[in-house]
This record gives sequence, C-alpha cells and structure tokens, in this order.
Amino acid sequence: MTRVALVAHDEKKSEMIELVQSNESLLGTFDIITTGTTGKRIMEETSLTVERKESGPQGGDTQIGSEVVDGRIDGIVFLRDPLTAQPHEPDISALLRICEVHDVPLATARTGAEYLLDGLANDDESEC
Ligand code: PGA
Repeated sequence: MTRVALVAHDEKKSEMIELVQSNESLLGTFDIITTGTTGKRIMEETSLTVERKESGPQGGDTQIGSEVVDGRIDGIVFLRDPLTAQPHEPDISALLRICEVHDVPLATARTGAEYLLDGLANDDESEC
C-alpha cells in the first residue's frame, strides 16, 4: 500500500485540511502518517484515520525521517511556513535532506502537493 507522510506548520494547517478534503477519496486508499497536531486536525476534520507521530517540535519530523531511511515512505507533503522561524529547524532540514538522499518525492507547497498526490495515484494504478 502507498504510504504517505503529511506534515503542516501551524500557519499551513488549514491549507493542509483543504488539500486533504479535496483529495479525500484518494488519500483513503493510502496509508498515512503525520506529525502529531497535523494528524489530530486531519482526523477531527476529515473521515480519514492516520498514524500520528510526535508533534514536529517534539521529534515528529525525525520519526518520519527515520521511516524514509527505512524505505517505508512513498511520498511526503510537508506544507512549510517559509515566513516564520521554527524552533525545530534542524529537524526540518534533516527531513528535507534525507528525502533528497533517498529520492523520496517531497512537496513543500500546495501546487507541488497536488502534483505529488496525482503522481502517487498514477503509480498506484499502474501497479494494479
Ligand atoms: P505538528 O508538527 O503537526 O505537530 O504541528 C508539524 C511541524 O511543526 O513540523
């Protein structure tokens, strides 16, 4: 099963909810992991069930990075807030870097995220 990670900084959480709602039936066919608060919002505001890791500042990005290293993740949507300093910036940079190292598709803003989800949906279909 396709496994995706969804993470959104606070200023981007509403955008993440919109993205998830507009792709809800596709995402319902995926295994989803999230950081803590992002996952809480997704479960409260959509019909999806997700596996929640720790909150980002508590190490959630690092936990997701570890799954990337283990080859368990097919794609990441990480809606970053480029206008606000984050206390866990080193963890964020590490996650972005490890996606590059392992060539795992990563989108950090809305339009890229739509392309990424479309791409994963096509991969899924061609595997059937
Ligand atoms: P959160 O973490 O979903 O727990 O807010 C996201 C982040 O800040 O990386």
